[in-house]
Amino acid sequence: LNFSVQILGSNSALAAHGRFPTAQVVQHNNSFFLIDCGEGTQMRMSHFHVKRSKIQHIFISHLHGDHYFGLIGLLTSYHLMGRTAPLTIYGPPLLEEIIQLQLNASNSQLGYTLQFVPTTTDGKQLIYDSPELQVFTFPLKHRIDTTGFLFQEKVGKRKINKSSTALLGLQANDFLSLRDGKNVAVNGHTFENESLTFAPPVARSYAYCSDTCFLPELKEYIQGVDLLYHEATFMQEEALKASQTFHSTTLQAGEIAKLAEVKQLVIGHFSSKYADLEAPLKEAKSVFPNTILAIEGSVFQIERAAIQHLNYSH
Ligand SMILES: [Zn+2]
Ligand SMILES: [Zn+2]
Repeated sequence: LNFSVQILGSNSALAAHGRFPTAQVVQHNNSFFLIDCGEGTQMRMSHFHVKRSKIQHIFISHLHGDHYFGLIGLLTSYHLMGRTAPLTIYGPPLLEEIIQLQLNASNSQLGYTLQFVPTTTDGKQLIYDSPELQVFTFPLKHRIDTTGFLFQEKVGKRKINKSSTALLGLQANDFLSLRDGKNVAVNGHTFENESLTFAPPVARSYAYCSDTCFLPELKEYIQGVDLLYHEATFMQEEALKASQTFHSTTLQAGEIAKLAEVKQLVIGHFSSKYADLEAPLKEAKSVFPNTILAIEGSVFQIERAAIQHLNYSH
């Protein structure tokens, strides 16, 4: 079952050095999610051959333009392409008004249903729930209300050990009980669940920390995730500028990854002042060695054993 994150944009504020403002596509099995939608996201989707029509949920972290100025263009293009599948947008409450104003001003009516789910910065909130996956928001600390997003797989049911001879006398409902982790009784004999089943696959997780100043409290929301994206707008020499603008440095991103004991850190939201990203990467690695860059086009496959990193090749 596929669980992956593709980076479409990883620059902050301006597009520069061939890098675009923030956008990512998360795939979980057959579900596709867009996180943030900076200007140019549509073009990045075409460039990287993302099947944009498959996206049914869009999550916007906050209302700084580099995280949503591509949204109205994408919504309108969906209409022009004849989309009929509903689309749900999750974001700060004002975003609904902004979208409506833009649609009203151009007298546009979309040919598909647009649903809006307002986010809040009030602790950890469940905003998406399917049989396989949950998405939560959690508060970040930035100049305006901003949330991170946690994608958490649900723990699956136990697997029946088909080679067990004890299964022979069991009824259909016994198998259901076994998959739910219960013991079963046959002819007065109780079988321990563990003797007839295997543990379910380990649940995987991805956390996206959009724009934020250094915030150690994040640890409680992202503890032990398989993959953490954390902004690292500046290198440490710009720590003052980072705190003044409510952004993080490379060392601070590494520190959060270490505090939260995540398995892999990916850093992004790079300042345009860095044409070359090797120095920021090296600095983050000095705190958290298992760090990689959010190079645009890269796909991070979240495997149960480790993260597979596939660079985009043209
Ligand atoms: Zn930003
Ligand atoms: Zn921002």
